[in-house]
Amino acid sequence: MSSSRQPPAASVATIPIRPARPADLPWPPTREASSRALQQGGPRDQLGRPLRDLRISVTDRCNFRCTYCMPREAFGKQHPFLPHGELLTFEEITRAARLFVGLGVRKIRLTGGEPLLRRGLDDLVAMLAALRTPEGAAPDLALTTNGVLLARMAGRLKAAGLNRVTVSLDALDQDVFRRMTDTDHTVAEVLDGIAAAQAAGLGQVKVNMVVRKGVNDHEILPMAQHFRGSGTELRFIEYMDVGQTNQWQMSEVLTSEAVRARLAAAHPLIPVERTRGSDTATRWHYADGAGSVGFISSVTQAFCGDCTRLRLSTEGRLYTCLFASAGRDLRALLRDAALDDRAVVSRLHALWSARLDRYSEQRGAPPPASPGPEPSPQPRVEMSYIGG
Ligand code: SAM
Ligand code: SF4
Ligand code: SF4
Repeated sequence: MSSSRQPPAASVATIPIRPARPADLPWPPTREASSRALQQGGPRDQLGRPLRDLRISVTDRCNFRCTYCMPREAFGKQHPFLPHGELLTFEEITRAARLFVGLGVRKIRLTGGEPLLRRGLDDLVAMLAALRTPEGAAPDLALTTNGVLLARMAGRLKAAGLNRVTVSLDALDQDVFRRMTDTDHTVAEVLDGIAAAQAAGLGQVKVNMVVRKGVNDHEILPMAQHFRGSGTELRFIEYMDVGQTNQWQMSEVLTSEAVRARLAAAHPLIPVERTRGSDTATRWHYADGAGSVGFISSVTQAFCGDCTRLRLSTEGRLYTCLFASAGRDLRALLRDAALDDRAVVSRLHALWSARLDRYSEQRGAPPPASPGPEPSPQPRVEMSYIGG
């Protein structure tokens, strides 16, 4: 860290818990996945939810050290990031994605860590863009990035078949941005990335802002002002109790309701009817026609009932919930020469069919004065590893 930099707010000098390196769960018993079940749209989990969204973490590394995600105290020089040989190869990722598309996945999001740090990512995008659903359509391909490398890569990613991009940006003010992200990169670089994505035709760019009370909440209105009418959609994310290292406290959460009230006082808002069950954001239009904003409220308004997401970690473990403590080792299956696609699919089918996760609903919204939810008995997996 450079000597001129302020220490990140609300982080502490030492964090005793190392980022979790998860143990594996056994695979649920398999039943032959009937071709009728597959034709009918793939498996349903124990709560009736289909599998629709696959988030793929392509690297556990990042060029930022956001205090809420990869605090430098826990992800410093000593942190054992995965060696290259441990990562799923592009061929393995594509095979897994193809099998999941056969089971109902229609949207694939590349994430991390910082996905643009993975060398040759546009090659992976091209491989995924060539997949076809049983109806013959390409899956919707999206990327979440901190935006710093986007200006130089947006054109190539679009040409390779990427449909959409979400860029994370927590503040326009450089000092506040630095306090949130603990990086020497600049707001200007991220804004250049957003502009490049728009110029390349990467859909309606979404901008994610994690709101941390007392750290960047005074940037809510400047951010809204900046992105209103720009063709992007700004989405405010409640600071989540994900992972083990960010020292999360409920007192630092500014609820979506509070953010919306602040915003609506300056710019009246009209609710947008939800169009797609598994959307994580609740959307509102600016009443004056300057576009829309979104609110992702996983702390105060759990959306587990609609959760159709599965996460594939950098080294090939599958997680059926963002707040999981352990996953299943898909890489071992993919590298087992004795297992053909059919054998792997029956494991994946059984995994989704047995799913019961609904962490956010079960923990409820902790009252503002409380320290937050009870800590899990098992350490939770870090978001940079599992894929945000
Ligand atoms: N590095 C990329 C980025 O920042 O966009 C992709 C990975 S990041 C883990 C994905 C998303 O998770 C980002 O929008 C980030 O702001 C969000 N995120 C990370 N930790 C969070 C937390 N504790 N609460 C809420 N959102 C979080
Ligand atoms: Fe990196 Fe994204 Fe996590 Fe920030 S939120 S540390 S940019 S992975
Ligand atoms: Fe899905 Fe788990 Fe989040 Fe609920 S807590 S919405 S099940 S990822």
